[in-house]
Amino acid sequence: MKYVLVTGGVVSGLGKGVTASSIGVVLKACGLRVTSIKIDPYLNTDAGTMSPFEHGEVFVLDDGGEVDLDLGNYERFLDVTLTRDNNITTGKIYQSVLEKERKGDYLGKTVQVVPHITDAIKDWIERVAAIPVDGKEGPADVCVIELGGTVGDIESMPFIEALRQLSFSVGQDHFCLVHVSLIPVLGVVGEQKTKPTQHSVRELRALGLTPHLLACRSAQPLLENTKQKLSQFCHVPVGNILNVHDVPNIWHVPLLLRNQNAHDSILRQLDLLRVATPPVLE
Ligand code: ADP
Repeated sequence: MKYVLVTGGVVSGLGKGVTASSIGVVLKACGLRVTSIKIDPYLNTDAGTMSPFEHGEVFVLDDGGEVDLDLGNYERFLDVTLTRDNNITTGKIYQSVLEKERKGDYLGKTVQVVPHITDAIKDWIERVAAIPVDGKEGPADVCVIELGGTVGDIESMPFIEALRQLSFSVGQDHFCLVHVSLIPVLGVVGEQKTKPTQHSVRELRALGLTPHLLACRSAQPLLENTKQKLSQFCHVPVGNILNVHDVPNIWHVPLLLRNQNAHDSILRQLDLLRVATPPVLE
């Protein structure tokens, strides 16, 4: 199983879900089978009891799972049928660990965030990634994992640590990290600012994760010198810095990625260039 992890920096509501689903669409168009997992670091077990005014609509899956609306994006973009386990929350992870603790499964050990919560996260991801969601037999080729929230949030730390360990255990040609970040423009000067992205990449690297691609959310496409600056300071090749500027309709985002050859960068990182076909997207 190969993993594409999508993280977000600077602010929430950046478009991680749309970017992650669009990456899935482009990989699927290259002939790969894709599944997805959404991680929500909140303590609620699921989105069923959360106010839609605060959190957006609850999406109900075929198995009755009440989940984050991003799973709706995944189902529509990728034509898959996900299960409630494809949405991981802190609440679900702690519930499973505490149930095991009550049963005595930890054999008297002190139960801790590291390694017990982080192991539960890794096991959950590996178990769910192997479940076919496209009606075919056998596991998918690639699992796109979206980590909700913003890098540096206290509540997402156990997930970041678990994903760091996962990236190490699966090996570098099985793991690709796409960091979605904001490039604001300051009104008076009109300059595209890279500093918030530099800081969020630094935060990610301090936690042991290195982005292979940057997906930059901005009002307008990035200027060439903005890309150069990002490349130099974030240690990401210019060819792996993607424009994900505002588009009138989110269905344009997969085309935006395809037109910038995002699939080539991701497939190269995952050592899948040989088996993939050129993307067919209309
Ligand atoms: P996140 O997962 O980071 O919270 P979402 O993927 O849910 O963010 O997107 C937040 C909002 O931004 C949604 O309403 C989505 O339609 C919109 N959006 C995302 N990407 C783009 C884009 N490239 N252009 C215009 N709107 C976008």
